[in-house]
Amino acid sequence: MIYETAPAKINLTLDTLYKRDDGYHEVEMIMTTVDLNDRLTFESRDDGKIIIDVEHNFVPSDHRNLAYKAAKLMQDKYNIKEGVKISLEKSIPISAGLAGGSSDAAATFRGLNELWGINESLESLSELASEIGSDISFCIYGKTALCQGRGEKLTHLPKPPSAWVVIAKPDIGVSTPEIYGALNLDDKIEVRTQDCRDALEKNDYGVLCQTLGNSLEKVTMKLYPEVEKLKNTMKNSGVDAALMSGSGPTVYGFVQKERQAKQVYNALMGCCNDVYIARLLG
Ligand code: ATP
Repeated sequence: MIYETAPAKINLTLDTLYKRDDGYHEVEMIMTTVDLNDRLTFESRDDGKIIIDVEHNFVPSDHRNLAYKAAKLMQDKYNIKEGVKISLEKSIPISAGLAGGSSDAAATFRGLNELWGINESLESLSELASEIGSDISFCIYGKTALCQGRGEKLTHLPKPPSAWVVIAKPDIGVSTPEIYGALNLDDKIEVRTQDCRDALEKNDYGVLCQTLGNSLEKVTMKLYPEVEKLKNTMKNSGVDAALMSGSGPTVYGFVQKERQAKQVYNALMGCCNDVYIARLLG
């Protein structure tokens, strides 16, 4: 039996550069991970079947599950006759902008690499992973990176300074294609990717807080005003910086002390059901 944890990702930056001929947007994002984890276990099966065991109303347990897709791709690519039962314990909220499904898929690539004795490098797994989802390549490593292309081209960066992260998801789910569909590239905010990168290089918490930015934030907030309301509540509760992650609707805030994190947590508990205190993993 193999165990893997699948941490949630947050965007420190997200910039949408232009729409490509293949329909995807060319993006530039700095992403990192937090210790809000799904947990997966992998047990070998002799019959070649891939079975997903998950108890969650909004997570499919069939071929639509990203962990299933990862396992199938590994089986086909490496001609594996063994099967696997994957037990998935979800803690990362769904359709949240925290890449929960992508992180589960990445954990599956790592777990089966070991369970099935494939012994591929993380680099090869990361390349393979991009066939089923743009964020999975990042999640294979789970380390702070500048992600370009569709998100699959990685340049690893220094981990962020230590901080507490309060994560809050309004009681709505947001579909990523919906947000990209509503994006107007002529009306987007400037995202300070290079400044954020410099802040990481210098390990400067203060500057890092000033350089967080997400060009999808305005789009999601227009469609779902509760996201803006939540961000304002977070800012008023004393965080050093707050930002929507991915295409939303989750908003996170940084503080340096656990006591402050608890204060922010308490202020947000009345606003939504999904509120978490985590630490940056990097
Ligand atoms: P991203 O930040 O990459 O856009 P997200 O946090 O918005 O991801 P997810 O929670 O990863 O979204 O999943 C979105 C959809 O994918 C859901 O509709 C869900 O049914 C489906 N899905 C497939 N596999 C999984 C999985 N292992 N965990 C969660 N959702 C999954």
